[in-house]
Amino acid sequence: MENPVIVAIDGPSGTGKSSTSKAVAVRLGLSYLDTGAQYRAITWWMLSNGVDVADPAAIADASGKPVIVSGTDPRDPRISVDGVDASGPIRSQEVTAAVSAVSAVPEVRARMVEYQRAAAAAAATGIVVEGRDIGTTVLPDATAKIFLTASAEVRAARRSGELLGAVSVAATQEALVKRDAADSGRKTSPLAKAADAIEVDTSDLTLDEVVDRVVALVGEKKATAR
Ligand code: C5P
Repeated sequence: MENPVIVAIDGPSGTGKSSTSKAVAVRLGLSYLDTGAQYRAITWWMLSNGVDVADPAAIADASGKPVIVSGTDPRDPRISVDGVDASGPIRSQEVTAAVSAVSAVPEVRARMVEYQRAAAAAAATGIVVEGRDIGTTVLPDATAKIFLTASAEVRAARRSGELLGAVSVAATQEALVKRDAADSGRKTSPLAKAADAIEVDTSDLTLDEVVDRVVALVGEKKATAR
């Protein structure tokens, strides 16, 4: 049997990570894990349970409580928190505004990274894992590491249409730049490109073009890893 293929896809918000990762997983017959959804899910639980998201110690104390279960089907990725489907509520503005503060807490990250490594180990044919620190921290031995980028304008335009309660592109861009700065500046496993990751700028590419490129890169990496 061939070794499972592990594809790490990192990058800031709005670069097309989720659409690309799901499509690559479907094309290659792999599982899929959205680690951003996990950080959103734990943030949603904190907000729903009255934990002060401005208090890292309170977040750390509560970090072991929610039971988060991520589906790994790229055609229908679902996430549940304490048995309740949270796929919708985790996309709210409230969660988006609080997620960087919650995900910066080392206890939260330690727990999520454990889930993520377990999901990767359980994937029989392999998995596409998307996030911010997959290539650097979670799965440093991934078969292929991709780092997606795009201009701030393109990213904001993509995201403003995606989130619940659509807001203006300008407001989205401001929030997005702020979130990227927080994600890149945190102490524990910040958003970063791994030294051996291949960067793909998606600003002027269609989704199909990005997917073609990533699938080709994975093929090349698989060939040299043999
Ligand atoms: O990808 P998405 O925008 O849904 O991620 C939401 C947030 O989750 C990010 O802004 C970041 O704070 C956090 N995150 C993270 N590490 C990951 C994935 C997401 O800290 N691997």
